[in-house]
Amino acid sequence: MYRYGIYTRVPLARWNIGRVTLLGDSAHAMVPFQAQGAAQAILDAAVLGDVLAGATPAEVPGALDRYVRGRLPAATGMQAGSARAGDDYHLPDGPEARARDARMAAHAAAHRFLPQARGW
Ligand SMILES: Cc1cc2nc3c(=O)[nH]c(=O)nc-3n(C[C@H](O)[C@H](O)[C@H](O)COP(=O)(O)OP(=O)(O)OC[C@H]3O[C@@H](n4cnc5c(N)ncnc54)[C@H](O)[C@@H]3O)c2cc1C
Repeated sequence: MYRYGIYTRVPLARWNIGRVTLLGDSAHAMVPFQAQGAAQAILDAAVLGDVLAGATPAEVPGALDRYVRGRLPAATGMQAGSARAGDDYHLPDGPEARARDARMAAHAAAHRFLPQARGW
């Protein structure tokens, strides 16, 4: 069996200072149980591109503040959600795991993820 470590970090209260900012894993490394790390990094880049478009050098710190206000709460929420999903996926066999399985089956059926719900 191949084993590797998965490392994360505690949520940061701020990502930027002056004309410098973090994005992607450097800002919000998360466990991979919602498959959101790279997705969140791409969203960071898109918002960063928007706020910096046309900004003069003097406007960059303010633009970075807007970027962080737009992205930090959502990315931090995703870090927490991914951690919760990891706990949920790794429950030992028993009543909690069975309750999780029932919850996930109900969710999948409600959202028509299951093949039988789609008539396949
Ligand atoms: C097992 C696993 C499964 C995952 N599955 C998914 C998934 O399904 N969907 C998803 O969205 N995300 C997934 N992720 C998360 C995703 O891989 C990361 O969130 C994403 O790669 C972060 O991108 P990044 O550019 O911020 O950092 P990185 O991809 O880590 O890029 C940083 C780069 O900087 C380079 N670097 C570091 N230090 C220096 C230096 N001093 N000078 C120059 N270069 C430097 C590194 O070599 C690296 O190339 C998964 C992660 C893991 C571990």
